[in-house]
Amino acid sequence: MTFRRTRCPHCKGKMEQGVRIHPECIDGYAEAQAAKSERAEAKKARDAAKVERAETRRRKEAIKTLPKLKKEAEREFNAFIRARDADQPCISCGALPPDLSGLHAGRDAGHYRSVGSAAHLRYHEDNVHAQCVHCNQHGAGRAVEYRIGLIARIGEARVVALETNNTVRKWTHDELRAIRDTYRAKLKELRQ
Ligand SMILES: [Zn+2]
Ligand SMILES: [Zn+2]
Repeated sequence: MTFRRTRCPHCKGKMEQGVRIHPECIDGYAEAQAAKSERAEAKKARDAAKVERAETRRRKEAIKTLPKLKKEAEREFNAFIRARDADQPCISCGALPPDLSGLHAGRDAGHYRSVGSAAHLRYHEDNVHAQCVHCNQHGAGRAVEYRIGLIARIGEARVVALETNNTVRKWTHDELRAIRDTYRAKLKELRQ
């Protein structure tokens, strides 16, 4: 069984029986075919590059150390805290946010129990609140005010729960990745 074209493959116009293509369409058809395969090649190259970039990312992620992942988790967590508290006053001195439109304007994510003495609470939302950079850096002198501000914010029961929380906490690589990714997502949600 032979297939007979009834339409020109290039212009789709009618043809006489036994003709494969209009003679005047041959060049245009060849050009179109060449352009098509060029586009297909380019797409193949783009796809391959994408796969390679994903593989590179995966390899880089796989070799990250615990300290590096801790830093990454902390960066996302602290950014979330600053955004969450963007329109809250400083937890220890009550100063209003210096710039309500700027999420970082002069404010830190200040820990009630410090990372140094209570590392297990470093990613605990009750333990970390927006604070003036100045108050945070003179933290020792602000602990009493922080406690008063914290009770007003979350209630005494939760403050006492923080103060008595001495659970030893060691994070695995994947737990730190989960914290990082969770707070990245929560921050994105807040900003929407
Ligand atoms: Zn034609
Ligand atoms: Zn302050």
